[in-house]
Amino acid sequence: MSPPFEKRIGENLAEVEGRIAEAALRSGRRPGDVRLVAVTKYVEIELIEPLLARGCRTLGESRPQHLWPKAEALAGRDVAWHMIGPLQRNKVRRTLPLVEMIHSADSLRLVETIDRIAAELQRSARLLLEVNASGDQAKHGLADAQLEDVLSRLAEYRHVEVCGLMCMAGLDSGPEETRREFARLRHTRDRLRSSCPGGAALEELSMGMSGDYEIAIEEGATIVRVGSALFEGVLK
Ligand SMILES: *Cc1c(COP(=O)(O)O)cnc(C)c1O
Repeated sequence: MSPPFEKRIGENLAEVEGRIAEAALRSGRRPGDVRLVAVTKYVEIELIEPLLARGCRTLGESRPQHLWPKAEALAGRDVAWHMIGPLQRNKVRRTLPLVEMIHSADSLRLVETIDRIAAELQRSARLLLEVNASGDQAKHGLADAQLEDVLSRLAEYRHVEVCGLMCMAGLDSGPEETRREFARLRHTRDRLRSSCPGGAALEELSMGMSGDYEIAIEEGATIVRVGSALFEGVLK
């Protein structure tokens, strides 16, 4: 008999996928238009397996030193890793070959480093630019002016592909403020797409976590990063 946590994680995943599908329909999109990144930072491989067994293919970690051993343990499996948290420049070389996307490019220096190392490794790196949408001092992310600066220089960086923007809601934001922050990110994206060289391909909006992913989808998220909701009832 399979251990009880497997069943619970499967139910949690089905619940989250159902809510994602409903929120996508409410926002006039198809369920398949929103991608779930299952954030595995709370758990070891044993608790990731039930997600994989149920078809979950995109996993996220917020610390490179936690992503590395998990990605190595699951090497050869049909899994795409997303780096969703702060990435120090000295960790780019080891991280880049393991990931499909980096959500958290939050400075020009980091973009430069990723470009240089991607060139050395003869690959291309898919990035999202992290925006400080709440104005919260404690949050990472580019202010609007910095964001435009990075986008205006993208032609210099031939080994990075900027696919979109990412944000986190402010720590103290209630649901209405959170919704405004997500809407602001979408507006920023729409404006940059039309006004900024390099802004044209900003397809992806990575926003929304366990507490606010439905709001994020209603406001246009194409990627949600959900962790604790998947492991409810399993973690202490
Ligand atoms: C941990 C984390 C998440 C997932 O958070 P939950 O609230 O557990 O769903 C999403 N994004 C980032 C950047 C994180 O660090």
